[in-house]
Amino acid sequence: MKVSFKDLGLVNTREMFAKAVKGGYAIPAFNFNNMEQLQAIIQAATETKSPVILQVSKGARNYANQTLLRYMAQGAVEYAKELGWKKPQIVLHLDHGDSYEVCKSCVDFGFSSVMIDGSALPYDENVKLTRKVVNYAHKFDVTVEAELGVLAGVEDEVSAEVSHYTKPEEVIDFVKKTKCDSLAISIGTSHGAYKFKPEQCTRDPKTGRLVPPPLAFDVLKAIEKKLPGFPIVLHGSSSVPQEYVDIINANGGKLPDAVGIPEEQLRKAAKSAVCKINIDSDSRLAMTAAIRKHFNEFPGHFDPRQYLKPAREEMKKMYIEKIVNVLGSNGKAR
Ligand SMILES: [Zn+2]
Repeated sequence: MKVSFKDLGLVNTREMFAKAVKGGYAIPAFNFNNMEQLQAIIQAATETKSPVILQVSKGARNYANQTLLRYMAQGAVEYAKELGWKKPQIVLHLDHGDSYEVCKSCVDFGFSSVMIDGSALPYDENVKLTRKVVNYAHKFDVTVEAELGVLAGVEDEVSAEVSHYTKPEEVIDFVKKTKCDSLAISIGTSHGAYKFKPEQCTRDPKTGRLVPPPLAFDVLKAIEKKLPGFPIVLHGSSSVPQEYVDIINANGGKLPDAVGIPEEQLRKAAKSAVCKINIDSDSRLAMTAAIRKHFNEFPGHFDPRQYLKPAREEMKKMYIEKIVNVLGSNGKAR
């Protein structure tokens, strides 16, 4: 049986992105795999009145089950209302859909937005596949994100050795032919908690920390010029907060040289046509840091609620910080 996202209280990205592009801010797209993470996202979005995109990756579907995740998202809308958010602006989005069939099944199942990632395909095949998904999704008012250019790094089952920046000269033709609603581009962001190899970075002489190379804002500018007002998406945009890396390493973990995208660069991107910023690794780090610390401090604890509660609180704090201090989406969904 087919289900429309509208019956679940979800929204698609169309209006949300139009407002974000005009308003010079970006919508947070947070991945979720479990209840505590979802609670933290919904609490953060409700308290800040920020529109939010709940993302489901292939890894999440394998880990938690697609059916369960969809019902959790439906529950999240009701939970947000119960917390006092009268008109929750929540999108349920498929992250990195890799086939027409997967995208179709999500559209049929109540997702309000899907990504078809044909970025590893030759250009013409990417166009063809994306167009096919758009044709189907638009029948049900589901919005579609496409991708041009290749991001480096590892994210669940998406991985590439090196990145290839999006070619600005291709974007007009691509958007015209595919009719996609938003476009993920490659300008130097990267998946995972190890976004750059040490040899790609410089080192801060004072702290000894790695300083990553800047994003290619010239490429972003060139794309904006070709597609004025068109919604642009940045994947792989965790900042890998060094305080979390330090807590993890100080409590038995081993994350040498984990490095992300500095927040001031994301802040700058959020003010441009970039209207969706994907953040996944930072939530993993927040959760792991809190749990490792808790286990060290309370070796006798064995009730998962004892250590998942501080983990949930740490994730919520991190989500709020992103919404308010990086993306600027707070107060945009009253
Ligand atoms: Zn991604």
